[in-house]
Amino acid sequence: MTQTPTSTSFARTENPARATDEQIAAVLANPGFGVHFTDHMVLVDWDKGEGWHDPRVVPYGPLQLDPSAAVFHYGQEIFEGMKAYRHADGSVWTFRPERNAERLNASARRLALPELPPTVFLDAVKELVSTDQAWVPSADSGETSLYLRPFMIATEAALGVRPSNKVLFSVIASPAGAYFAGGLKPVSLWVSELYVRAAPGGTGAAKCGGNYAASLASQAEGIEHGCDQVVFLDAVEHTYVEELGGMNLFFVYADGRIVTPELTGTILPGVTRSSLVELARERGHDVQERRFSIDEWRDGVASGEITEVFACGTAAVISPVGRLAWNGGELAMPEAHEVTMSLREELLDIQYGRAEDRHGWLYPL
Ligand code: PMP
Repeated sequence: MTQTPTSTSFARTENPARATDEQIAAVLANPGFGVHFTDHMVLVDWDKGEGWHDPRVVPYGPLQLDPSAAVFHYGQEIFEGMKAYRHADGSVWTFRPERNAERLNASARRLALPELPPTVFLDAVKELVSTDQAWVPSADSGETSLYLRPFMIATEAALGVRPSNKVLFSVIASPAGAYFAGGLKPVSLWVSELYVRAAPGGTGAAKCGGNYAASLASQAEGIEHGCDQVVFLDAVEHTYVEELGGMNLFFVYADGRIVTPELTGTILPGVTRSSLVELARERGHDVQERRFSIDEWRDGVASGEITEVFACGTAAVISPVGRLAWNGGELAMPEAHEVTMSLREELLDIQYGRAEDRHGWLYPL
């Protein structure tokens, strides 16, 4: 596919030690997740006087930052996660990146970081993927992709709790293997009663590093109890289901209703979540975005009214939930995954170009 030029003009420094085709093939044969990175990265600087400047593509490698850089002390950091998919004709696409650009800016506003013009965000992703396109796995290698990680950090070298006057935006990329390489494995979830993820007025709807740092202790608690991931409840009543540490939740009812926790400001607005809400509505499901209590979950499964539970996000697309455990009990989820798996297929077919992109969700890279 011919590359359309971007409107942002990136300076380029080629990586003199870029990987050979053989080295890339060896990585792509078994990419894992988030362990190998492509040859280049994008950097764009911001400072208070000049705004955004010096967009550039440079060899992937360590950043040099002053030990007093604000990000190390006050956690002024936000990020995004998206994927580049190769289609059967060799072309490379990403999925609804405008949503990620908007969400990055929503996170920026919450963390007092500067907003990045969406065109610069989109051009940065395009520039990196076209430079390192050899790293995008082939269409015949299953559910593989090139994971893209845009992020923004406060780089000003000064101690003092105030918004940084210098910021760096970067995009890095990492080939990702199929999430369920060993076959589909339903996830088990631990209900965190000790900790909350986000409180009203806090940073729950922002994709900032601090949210993930704060989730690690509960994640460890979940693992101690034999679970894969943690379900967070609301911080006020400890009653309403919010989301997992990195995925949104859906509940499928026998009568065709589908419920997902509403976006109250304490939940990350997932791009996968909003796409699935749309796809399910098009199929005629009554999709309800509303508050949903942990009792409603337990009672619905126990009575057989809830027939499927799944989690969703860019990394795994959709994972069925197999088990819910909490202090003092546990409950097996229904074993049916019919709606879960067919929504999963439909979304993957769009992302990998096997189905018509009737919503205009794909973006050429
Ligand atoms: N919730 C949280 C807390 C997340 O980190 C993610 C991953 N970005 C999601 C939900 C799912 O979002 P998306 O579908 O945009 O990947």
